[in-house]
Amino acid sequence: MTGTSTTEVTCVKCKRVYETEVIDHIDLSEDRELIRKIKSGKANRVQCPKCKKVMYLDRSFVINFEPQNLIVLFDPHLKNKADIDNIMRSYESIISFNEIFVEVGAETEFKVISDLKKLKSLITNYAKLYM
Ligand SMILES: [Zn+2]
Repeated sequence: MTGTSTTEVTCVKCKRVYETEVIDHIDLSEDRELIRKIKSGKANRVQCPKCKKVMYLDRSFVINFEPQNLIVLFDPHLKNKADIDNIMRSYESIISFNEIFVEVGAETEFKVISDLKKLKSLITNYAKLYM
């Protein structure tokens, strides 16, 4: 199940501030139509209600590679190892996002990825195996 939340966005064109729904969590086994968007870096597409300007938000989100025991936090803003280590320490809080993750947490591999190329190759391999 895809998890979404509401966030405030400022339009780059007309500066209008609007609320929009963004993706926090993707389960690849259930959201296959999202795979193409993730691979092109366009998972979070938003559109200004006033001037219709489309923007793609550089937000982090969690991807569950069910049925592989792999959960990936994709965050395009993480640039150095210290940041990634910090995230790894808060793994517990990330998996607590979803009760099912807590149950399988012990046997699930968790990765933090900031490079879209790495994410693409993981998803391409996943697609070969399960689609
Ligand atoms: Zn606008």
